[in-house]
Amino acid sequence: MDSKIYDVIIVGAGPGGSSLAAKLAEVGLHVLILEKQSFPRYKVCGGGVTKRALLKMPIDITPIIRDQITSLITVEGNHDIQGFKHKTPFIYMVMRDELDQLLAKHAVDCGAELKEDSFVKRVVEYGGRVDVFTRDEKYSGRYLVGADGVNSIVAKQVGLMSERRKALALEYEFRCDQATNAKYKNKVIIDYTRVPDGYIWIFPKNGILSAGIGSYSLSQKLMSKYLLSFLDHQEMSGDLLSAKGSFCLLAVPGSQS
Ligand SMILES: Cc1cc2nc3c(=O)[nH]c(=O)nc-3n(C[C@H](O)[C@H](O)[C@H](O)COP(=O)(O)OP(=O)(O)OC[C@H]3O[C@@H](n4cnc5c(N)ncnc54)[C@H](O)[C@@H]3O)c2cc1C
Repeated sequence: MDSKIYDVIIVGAGPGGSSLAAKLAEVGLHVLILEKQSFPRYKVCGGGVTKRALLKMPIDITPIIRDQITSLITVEGNHDIQGFKHKTPFIYMVMRDELDQLLAKHAVDCGAELKEDSFVKRVVEYGGRVDVFTRDEKYSGRYLVGADGVNSIVAKQVGLMSERRKALALEYEFRCDQATNAKYKNKVIIDYTRVPDGYIWIFPKNGILSAGIGSYSLSQKLMSKYLLSFLDHQEMSGDLLSAKGSFCLLAVPGSQS
C-alpha cells in the first residue's frame, strides 16, 4: 500500500491524461498517473492530429510526424472527389504508440509519477479524498481525474458515464510498398456513402496505411466485409500488420447519434 496522498491521481495515460499530468506537475503538484498498459502500447486510432491540436501539444512532436496532409478526398460510390486542398498541411499523421509514449515521458520529465501495468478497478470517495484501487495497490489523492477513455471505469463509478450511443470501429494497418505509399501520401480518403451509419477512411503514415471503418449499426463481421471491399475498390495492397477493434463516438453526417 502507498500511504502518500497525491494532489491529483489521473487514471489513463492517453494524450488527455499525460498532457494534464504535465501541466499540473509543472506547477508543483504531486501527480500520479495510473495506466493499465505499458508503453509503447497500441491504440486503435487514425492518428490524425489536426493543426489546432498540434499547436496545443505540450511538446514538439515533429520528430514523430509521419505524413502531412494537404488534401481531402471523399469517395462517393465509384468516384473520388477532391474535397479540399490546402497549400499548407491541416492534419499531421502519427502512430499513437509513438505519440502517447512521448507525451507520457514528457509528463514524467515534468515531475509526474507514472505507474504502468496498473489497471484501476475501483474508486472510493470519502472525507475529502479519493482512494483508487488497482489489482494490487491502493493509492489516495485529493483529486481524481478519469482520463481512461471511452469505456472509462472512473466515469462509470462516479456516475458521469455518457449516455451517448457508441459506434464500433475496426482498424487495419498495412505495410505498403513505395508505389502505394506515393499514391496515398499527403492525402486522407474518406467515404461516407458506402457504410450505413458510418464511414471508411484511409490515412497514410509513410510506409504504413491505416484503413478503418466505424458504424453505429453494422456488426463486426459486416464491417470487415465492407472495409475489405472498399480496399479492393481502391486497389490497395500491403502486408497486414494488425487488425483491431474499439468502441468510439463517431461524427456521422445526418446522424442523431
Ligand atoms: C477508430 C478510431 C479512430 C480515431 N481517429 C482519430 C484521429 O484520426 N484523430 C483524432 O484526433 N482522434 C481520433 N480518434 C479519437 C481519439 O483516439 C481519442 O479522442 C483519444 O484517444 C482520446 O484521448 P484520451 O487521452 O482521452 O483517451 P485514450 O487515448 O483512450 O486513453 C485512455 C488511456 O486510459 C487507459 N485506461 C483505460 N482504462 C483504464 C483503467 N481502468 N485503468 C488504468 N488505465 C486505463 C488506456 O489504456 C489508455 O492508455 C479515433 C478513435 C477511434 C476509436
